[in-house]
Amino acid sequence: MGIDNNLYEKSIKILTDLISFQTISGSDNTKLINYCEKILNNLGIETFKVFDDEKKRVNLFGTLKAKKTNGKKPIILSGHTDVVPVSKGWSTDPFKATIKDKKLYGRGSCDMKGFIACTLAYAPILTQNNLDRDFHFCFTFDEETACIGAPLLIKEMKKRNIKNGICIVGEPTKMKIIDAHKGMNEYTTYFGGLAGHSSKPHEGVNAIEYASRYINKLLDIRKELIKRAPKNCIFDPPHSTLSVGGISGGIAHNVIADKCQVEWETRPVNKSDGDFVTQEIEKFANNELLNDMKKVFPKSYIKKEIIGEVIGFEKIDTSEACEFVASITGDNSRQVVSFGTEAGLFQEVGISTVVCGPGSIEQAHKIDEFIELDELKKCLNFLEGIKNRSIN
Ligand SMILES: [Zn+2]
Repeated sequence: MGIDNNLYEKSIKILTDLISFQTISGSDNTKLINYCEKILNNLGIETFKVFDDEKKRVNLFGTLKAKKTNGKKPIILSGHTDVVPVSKGWSTDPFKATIKDKKLYGRGSCDMKGFIACTLAYAPILTQNNLDRDFHFCFTFDEETACIGAPLLIKEMKKRNIKNGICIVGEPTKMKIIDAHKGMNEYTTYFGGLAGHSSKPHEGVNAIEYASRYINKLLDIRKELIKRAPKNCIFDPPHSTLSVGGISGGIAHNVIADKCQVEWETRPVNKSDGDFVTQEIEKFANNELLNDMKKVFPKSYIKKEIIGEVIGFEKIDTSEACEFVASITGDNSRQVVSFGTEAGLFQEVGISTVVCGPGSIEQAHKIDEFIELDELKKCLNFLEGIKNRSIN
């Protein structure tokens, strides 16, 4: 089992280029996308782009059509192009790939430009073969913040009738199969009341006090989530969680606070728990809290802002994508993880999905992020395996 050395060198070259684009979440990623698009277009692979509202960030989707598909489902190779910010303390320039001790260092090396580089390096081989299924390349923006790019792209895929397939999300799993993770929903709730002198609390609307009642309700809901735990839940802990991460408001001891905000999140084990949290807290905020607030000051408000809602990735007993990957890697084990991915978004629209890619999540988001060069080789071998199952 050895892949061509040229192919391996090429994957390193492309990864080096990809790392040099500073695509921190939220920033302009068009240069990187244009680079990827050029590689695909030069091979005759057709592409389309889906932009955000400001046309600053962009998703890329490429399709290599098979002459005849024999009814085989297309393969979707999916990766996000954004990286998390860098903090101080790197031993090397985070945006300059550096190879040392069989490791390639750089921001995004494992999460997840390594996977994207392998797919681009391998693409010419796909075009040279007589494929019996289509291949899609799916490169998104802003996964790390709250999976902002992928939903826009998936909407466009639906429009273009691309609704079917086996999707491989190449997040760093050391090429192990990940078949489930919790969702992650983050919110900030803003309370607006009426300021006043603290000696007359009844004449003001104290935003902090209402925020406290709101938090207490969240904690009640948290208890309910434990009771709602599904049987044999595979996650740790085996139920949906909820946590309050921040609260701020008020200016002085003797002033009724007119503003307060609460930052909180929930990690649902299934979609219905996520919906349950939203329904319960909205009902309480609107029917009880806001009612009381408006009795004193009609312009009072409670606004819940969605920071991000990353849908969970649910375990499927007989997953075509998992079985397909296992047939190539020979590894039948399945794992669940605590990090979020775009997998649930593809699954939601009926695409069989698996998370499997080179590098380790241990190194992701950290100072001196790296990918072991062997992992790139493993990934190229894996792509070779996919190709071998996709030719006449
Ligand atoms: Zn990632």
